[in-house]
Amino acid sequence: MKILLSEKALNEGVEKLASQINETYQGKPLTIVGVLTGSVILMADLIRKLEMPLRVGVVQTSSYEGTQRGALTINSEMMLDIAGRDVLLIDDIFDTGHTLEEVTQLMKELGPTSLKSLVLLLKTGRQEVDWKPEFIAFDIPDEFVVGYGLDYNDEYRNLPYLAILEPADIQGVSS
Ligand code: 5GP
Ligand code: MG
Repeated sequence: MKILLSEKALNEGVEKLASQINETYQGKPLTIVGVLTGSVILMADLIRKLEMPLRVGVVQTSSYEGTQRGALTINSEMMLDIAGRDVLLIDDIFDTGHTLEEVTQLMKELGPTSLKSLVLLLKTGRQEVDWKPEFIAFDIPDEFVVGYGLDYNDEYRNLPYLAILEPADIQGVSS
C-alpha cells in the first residue's frame, strides 16, 4: 500500500477545516450530520476543534460493493431534527458527488436554515454533479483510497493515514 496522506498531513487538513468552520459560523449553534461510516474518524477529530454549541447526528448511506458503485440507499432515522437549524453535512470523500447530492436533496426537504457540506477528500476529475462541497481539505488523484475512516469491504478504516489500495493488496484481504 502506498501512503498518500500521512497522519501529520491529515491532522493539518482537519485543523484547516476546523478554522474555516469556526470562522464561517462565528459561534452560532451548528448541527452536524455525518455520513456513516466513512466520516466517523473525521467527525471525531473535527468536532473537538469546533468552538460553537454543537449537535451531532448521523445518516447512513451505502453505495459500494468492493471498489464498484452500486445502488445508493439512505437511512436517515438517526439524523436529528434539522428544521430551522444551520446544518453542516460531513462525508469522507466527494467522488461522483451522487451520495452527497441525494442526501442534500433529502435534507433540504426538512427545512434547515442553511445547509453546507464538508469533505476531507475530493477525487479530481470524477464529479458527475455541478456543485462541490463548500469545505474540502484535500484534492486527491483518481485512485481507490483507504484509511482514516475509508474502507475496502469494511476493513482498513482504522489506518491512521490515507493509502492507495493496489490490486496486490486486494488479494490479501479476507472475504
Ligand atoms: P460518490 O457518491 O461521491 O461517488 O461517492 C461517495 C462515497 O463513495 C463516499 O462516501 C465513500 O464511501 C465512497 N468512496 C468513493 N471513493 C472512494 C475511495 O476511493 N475509497 C473508499 N474507501 N470509498 C470511496
Ligand atoms: Mg461513504
